Amino acid sequence: MSALLYLLGLLLGAAIFFYLLSLYHTGVDKLSARRKGTHCRSMEIDPTLMEIVSRQAFPRERICPICKAILTYDDVLYATRVEQPKGAKILIHGCKYCYRAHPEEKA
Ligand SMILES: [Zn+2]
Repeated sequence: MSALLYLLGLLLGAAIFFYLLSLYHTGVDKLSARRKGTHCRSMEIDPTLMEIVSRQAFPRERICPICKAILTYDDVLYATRVEQPKGAKILIHGCKYCYRAHPEEKA
């Protein structure tokens, strides 16, 4: 009876050993494939796209769409409402930092 238990334990141990050995080789193969892959293809990230995503995070800053100045809650944008066939549009002229009502007078 004890010889049978010994044989069963030996078989179980061998099965576990070969299972772990196969897991090890699978992991080594995946790692080597990943290392080869990173050398070939370079990851390209568009920085302007990242900026847009970060701006959409809540609570987001108020940013002038013309000059990208960070606006406080009290700063206003200068804009004109333009009626169009598909509905009204807002034409943004700028903020207090970039908008000049009559630029020829300043020069
Ligand atoms: Zn501005």
